[in-house]
Amino acid sequence: MIIVMHAGAPQTDLERVVAHIEALKLRPHVIVGTERTVIAVVGDDRDATGSGFETLPGVASVLPILAPYKVASREVQSESTIVKAGPLVIGGKSIGVIAGPCSVESREQIVGTAHAVKSLGATGLRGGAFKPRTSPYSFQGMKERGLELLAEARAETGLAIVTEVVATEDVTLVARYADVLQVGARNMQNYRLLEAVGHTQVPVLLKRGPAATVEELLLAAEYILDAGNRQVILCERGIRTFETHTRFTLPLATVPWLHARTHLPVVVDPSHGTGHASLVESMAAASVAAGADGLIIEVHPDPKCASSDGAQTIDFAAFERMMGVCRRVAEAVGRSIS
Ligand code: PEP
Ligand code: MN
Repeated sequence: MIIVMHAGAPQTDLERVVAHIEALKLRPHVIVGTERTVIAVVGDDRDATGSGFETLPGVASVLPILAPYKVASREVQSESTIVKAGPLVIGGKSIGVIAGPCSVESREQIVGTAHAVKSLGATGLRGGAFKPRTSPYSFQGMKERGLELLAEARAETGLAIVTEVVATEDVTLVARYADVLQVGARNMQNYRLLEAVGHTQVPVLLKRGPAATVEELLLAAEYILDAGNRQVILCERGIRTFETHTRFTLPLATVPWLHARTHLPVVVDPSHGTGHASLVESMAAASVAAGADGLIIEVHPDPKCASSDGAQTIDFAAFERMMGVCRRVAEAVGRSIS
């Protein structure tokens, strides 16, 4: 349920309501908006109906939350969430661009890419140090050495580092280096991992599982939010369908659908979403037109030599062209790209 407080209700009223919620063994999520403060009450609240919240001082109304996801829902928070990690801002009027290789491969590769994408307007640097690969024989990433190289790239360029954490036991290590923790598509329903990143205060980029519905994506986000981390970015990265002309099928209707139902910002990944470098520019532009709050793009100095995902990776020249097109589309839809 949502408890809506009267505008200007004193802090003591809020504290009394929170104490009442906790006494019922439920969890309060206090959301302070510009106009009103609401408390999303989560947990098994079947026994809480008629528990007298309406009569507590400062309470304006008590409403059910109809969506299965609660803290993620726009019913609870009408204002859009803006996630900030250093120079990277996702949500709001400007569109944040995260660019970089699929995997960190060497100092020269990651630092060189960081300088190149920064000069073209990216504010986040992607690069996997821990890679979730379909085959155990494929390159698994440089692990902690890769994280150190990402930190060097940040020190030189100031870009925010977006990197994946694949296992619960690695969260503390990866969170020491990352400005944004990426939870990959394969781990979208790894609930212990979601809770673990939820216990950090590092922003999380949560990718949609290739076989997950959008409602399941929102329920996965709910695990992170309920654990206490409100800085969640959703990422559409394509789903598996019968279609084979692209690696995945990239459903862009996800973007406005999500915006109507959740306050969380939405990023699109046209690299994994298509699997083909030649399709990235068009689908990045289409994502911006559909209202995406950010893009995550695989960029490499020499894609044909990339250790992973070379076929869908663009080079610096293609990234420059893509940024030009996306800037023009952004302007047409009332947004901007730095
Ligand atoms: C990646 O970003 O390189 C990656 C592995 O993505 P996904 O989890 O979407 O497959
Ligand atoms: Mn990749």
